[in-house]
Amino acid sequence: MKYVDEYRDAELGRALSIEIAAAVQPGRHYKIMEVCGGHTHAIYKYGIDDLLPDNVELVHGPGCPVCVIPMGRVDDGIALAREPGVIFTCFGDMLRIPGSTESLQDAKAGGADVRMVYSPLDALRIARSEPDRHVVFFAIGFETTAPSTALTLKRAKAEGIENFSVMCSHVTIVPPLKALLESPDLRLDGFVGPGHVATIVGARPFEFIPADYGKPVVISGFEPLDVLQSILMILRQIEGGEARVENQYKRVVPQEGNLRALEALAEVFVLRPHFEWRGLGFISQSALALSDAYADFDSERRFVVPGVRVADPKACQCGEVLKGVIKPWECKVFGTACTPEHAIGTCMVSPEGACAAYYNYGRFAREKVVV
Ligand code: SF4
Repeated sequence: MKYVDEYRDAELGRALSIEIAAAVQPGRHYKIMEVCGGHTHAIYKYGIDDLLPDNVELVHGPGCPVCVIPMGRVDDGIALAREPGVIFTCFGDMLRIPGSTESLQDAKAGGADVRMVYSPLDALRIARSEPDRHVVFFAIGFETTAPSTALTLKRAKAEGIENFSVMCSHVTIVPPLKALLESPDLRLDGFVGPGHVATIVGARPFEFIPADYGKPVVISGFEPLDVLQSILMILRQIEGGEARVENQYKRVVPQEGNLRALEALAEVFVLRPHFEWRGLGFISQSALALSDAYADFDSERRFVVPGVRVADPKACQCGEVLKGVIKPWECKVFGTACTPEHAIGTCMVSPEGACAAYYNYGRFAREKVVV
């Protein structure tokens, strides 16, 4: 397939692997964080870590949008889904995220009208076809998906649709990265930058990482050769004593981002003063709420939501996984009490979650090594 197969060429992969081995110093350990869940998925799907020297370690970052939603937020969604006359819509993987006592899927089984949609426009379509009901869309995701919510709200406003609102849980990538860089738990040497988010925001927002923390960032595509080449570019910066933002994903990511999408975001959203992230706690200015101009479409202003903070289950170590402090298989319940079919934490539910990626692609090989 054009523009896909070229980036999965095994010979080129092996050649990059040799270049990576030649770029590192044998006595030094390199710890590189892939920020985005899409990269984690690619790394384990294609066995990229097996192509790296032992002293190049990949750790997973907080860039899985479903994984970072806290339990209390799921409970808020369930409360809205139970409001009389409400049709609650969300993406498929949100259905299975555990709340404090149940998931949205459980609420649906219990009679709430919860429906899976593929985009916010699908939710708007339901609102048009069911004028006597109120349709809530549970909006999640980083800057990557926020523009589609913004454009849907602009369309709803232009059409004068009154039975549609958004429970906005969009998050932003820079504040959690700052929090991680300030964390004493973690020493990182560089970042595989989030290619999807950068498609919208461009490369500039990541410049604080080399400028303030002296770490290289390479914005990367999601095919195996993209990731390998990005790791090589990071290692070459480190060995050259450099730290800057490079864009490996130039075929998709414009340096300045997508200006029309950024314009829509600025019109529809404002920054929340603070927002709770699963396992990371409250991070200031790390999420979006609807601006006053779109207040009529804000589910949290139209309905009363509990807004109660719920602690993660004791056995759950998603926070440490999201911060890259432990590997998924180091969690005590990984693959036993917590599996994709019966997840305790969020990182096992979403296909972009690090635990699901390890479980689906790497578990058995990893167990062999451990034994
Ligand atoms: S194995 Fe389950 S509980 Fe443990 S970190 Fe992963 S998702 Fe969370």
